[in-house]
Amino acid sequence: MSEIETSLIGFSRGDASGDTFYASNPATGKELVAAYASAADAEVDRAAELAEKAAGSLAGLSGAEKAKFLRAVADNVDGIVEDLVTIVTSETGLPEPRVRGETGRTSGQFRLFADLVEEGSWVDARIDHAMPDRQPIPKPDLRSMLRPIGPVGVFCASNFPLAFSVAGGDTASALASGCPVIVKAHHAHPGSALAVGHAVIAAVKSCGLPEGTFSLLYGGGRTVGQRLVKHPALKAVGFTGSRSGGRALFDLAAARPEPIPVYAEMSSVNPIFLLPSVLSDRSEGFATGLQGSAVMGVGQFCTNPGVVIHEKGDAGDAFKSAYAELMSQAPASAMLHSGIRDAYGDGVTARSESSNVEVLTDAGAGRGAGGCEASASVFATDARSYLADASLADEVFGPSTLLVACEGREEMLEIAGALEGQLTASIFGEPEELAEHQDLVDVLETKVGRLLFNQFPTGVEVCHSMVHGGPYPATTDGRSTSVGTGAILRFARPVCYQGFPTERLPEELKDENSLGIKRVVDGNRG
Ligand code: NAP
Repeated sequence: MSEIETSLIGFSRGDASGDTFYASNPATGKELVAAYASAADAEVDRAAELAEKAAGSLAGLSGAEKAKFLRAVADNVDGIVEDLVTIVTSETGLPEPRVRGETGRTSGQFRLFADLVEEGSWVDARIDHAMPDRQPIPKPDLRSMLRPIGPVGVFCASNFPLAFSVAGGDTASALASGCPVIVKAHHAHPGSALAVGHAVIAAVKSCGLPEGTFSLLYGGGRTVGQRLVKHPALKAVGFTGSRSGGRALFDLAAARPEPIPVYAEMSSVNPIFLLPSVLSDRSEGFATGLQGSAVMGVGQFCTNPGVVIHEKGDAGDAFKSAYAELMSQAPASAMLHSGIRDAYGDGVTARSESSNVEVLTDAGAGRGAGGCEASASVFATDARSYLADASLADEVFGPSTLLVACEGREEMLEIAGALEGQLTASIFGEPEELAEHQDLVDVLETKVGRLLFNQFPTGVEVCHSMVHGGPYPATTDGRSTSVGTGAILRFARPVCYQGFPTERLPEELKDENSLGIKRVVDGNRG
């Protein structure tokens, strides 16, 4: 029997007495040899207590010290890329180039946050000098800046085993803020989690940070994650996954004696609206681009375009046939785990059985040797049916597209107005048409985190201006982003120091501004 792998509780390992589980290769269906033990209650508590103890030290780090640590994590992750290729491909079925690309994205995110905190202006320092002679009452000296929120729990995403998992965007942004992180590994890729977890711990040690800076917990059921969220030491949660999972954790956090924020990124169908010129002038090119976006990663991107809204007519019919044909040519591929494949199968079946829905490309029944293979599916309906049946707005996570035909502009607007919150919405057309459809833009802006013109939503750039968020149910907090440097704001809170002597103020708030950061001083931004 192989050795049982256990959680990383700071610098020590959990014990192996808990329930064990195995990952399996979705391409072959074969269980992998390594066993993983779920963390015991006492181990979850120990990780939380260590994090609570570490929080003060981390909050006291300078931007330069945090940057050094973040870069050490990035270097360590890059250093194990060959191991990751072996482990991640076997646990997820993802192809090697994707794993290499995602490794680069993961370390790149850490370096981006390192640059951010080293520069330092992200803390949004504000200074209002005292006005002791102000009438009728004096004005006190007030200075504020963002401070770390405290220990953060991070739930790994199944669909990004690296970039949204152990050392993913949530972890990078929380550590960058100065928060200890406790990660709950995803059951489908525990070996990938362990390799990256060791890389993070090695950076914690080499930078001389406290052991509670980082822990990694295994949990084959739901109890480990729930205990973590309920622990009083925890101050915020980052999550990527299903609507039901995110909502359950959000409700749990809200029901705590001390409620805490849960930043859950959940479901989105990322609608695409076609203005008339697309189908009359460039239908073929659009269909090819859409197919590429819809089947990318076997449709397992949160920005997968699930619904396309177009006008009825001959051009619309021709587009439907051409797109269905393209999708039927996409080879079947393994999805990330059997749960996701089952959910895709259920979603496709439900959609096929909906009244007033035409099946244009049948996903078929084949699941391949591993039981996880899925083929693309395309459905069509009309605007009135779409608006009448709420289930047609649900996400079918996988390579599936619903084409919705409208009588004209008014129905298109009606659909936009009825949308739930989304990560993205895209509009395709000519710039002059966009100007004529400002009403559509105005409605969509209230529904999404990112609006695209003539571009497909898959491919999320990690940068300063990215917004990967959106109103519920895209996320549980539409004021935030989980990708890009803005993600750090989720794990920080403003603190105001009133009447403090200069020597007791954080460096960022002293008059001399030795760090040279941008600040707002007496209302002047500089
Ligand atoms: P998931 O089932 O929501 O799991 C995500 C993480 O949350 C896992 O660590 C899971 O633990 C934990 N979890 C889920 N429900 C929980 C609960 N009630 N209490 C405590 N912990 C809970 O997501 P998934 O495995 O990634 O995929 C399942 C479905 O989620 C997909 O079919 C798809 O519909 C959706 N999904 C959507 C997106 C998106 O971005 N839109 C991305 C990924 C998945 P375990 O590891 O123990 O299960």
